[in-house]
Amino acid sequence: MRTPDRAPVQIAIDGPVASGKSTVAKRLAQRLGFAFLDTGALYRAVAFMALQSGVKPNDERGVDALAERALPEVVSDERDPRSYRIRLDGRLLGPELFAPAVSQAVSPIAAMPAVRKRLIGAQRAFALHRDVVMAGRDIGTVVLPQARFKFFLTASVDARVDRRWRELHDAGIRITREELHAEIVARDLRDTTRAVSPLAKAPDAIVVDTSDLTIEEVADSLERTVAAKNQP
Ligand code: C5P
Repeated sequence: MRTPDRAPVQIAIDGPVASGKSTVAKRLAQRLGFAFLDTGALYRAVAFMALQSGVKPNDERGVDALAERALPEVVSDERDPRSYRIRLDGRLLGPELFAPAVSQAVSPIAAMPAVRKRLIGAQRAFALHRDVVMAGRDIGTVVLPQARFKFFLTASVDARVDRRWRELHDAGIRITREELHAEIVARDLRDTTRAVSPLAKAPDAIVVDTSDLTIEEVADSLERTVAAKNQP
C-alpha cells in the first residue's frame, strides 16, 4: 500500500479487445494492493446511454449532448474500497455494460473526440492520489503518459475470440464465434485507426503476447517486472 511519503505508482495496461488486459490488471492490482480501473467501462456507459435513449452511435452531436447531460462517474464500491462502480444518472451499472449491443456500439462512440475529452478527467482523477493499475487503449500514451510501468498486451485473433466467447457463454450471453470474430476485428480496426487517441503501444511499453499464457502467468510476469524495478 502507498505511504504518504512517496508519489503514487501508476501501472498502465493497454491492448486490443480480449487481450486479457482487464482481467490481468484486476489480478495484478489485487496482488499489489493497488486500485484497479477498467476504463472501457466508461466508454461502454456512454454507449449504453445512447442505446437507451435511441441516439445512433454515429450521431456525434446527439451522443455528446447525452454525455453533457449525464457523464458516467467512477465511484468507490462500498463493499470493496479498492474497487469501483460506474454510476450514470444516479444508477449503478454492471453486466448491462457488456451486452453485445453495447460492444457493437461502443467503438464509434469512443472515436468521438468530444466524448474522449469528457471522459479523460475521471480517469486521471482516479489515479491522482493512489497506486493504480488502469486498463484501456490509450492509458500509456494519453491518459497517464507518465505512468511508472506500461504494458501492452497482445494475442492472436483466434485466441482472443476463444477467450471472449467462453466469458460471454459463461455469463449466459449467446453469440456465435463467427459473430464475435467479426465484432472483434471491426472493433480493433476502428480503435487502431481513429484520429484521436488510437489504440497504440507507447514507445516505452513492454509487450506481452498472452496467446499461450494463463491469466496467472501473465500476472506473474508483470508482477516480476514491477518488483524488479521497484528494488531500492
Ligand atoms: O476494453 P473494452 O473492450 O471494454 O472497451 C470498449 C471500447 O471502449 C473499446 O473497443 C474502445 O473503443 C473503447 N476504449 C477506448 N479507450 C480506452 C478504453 C476503451 O477507446 N481507454
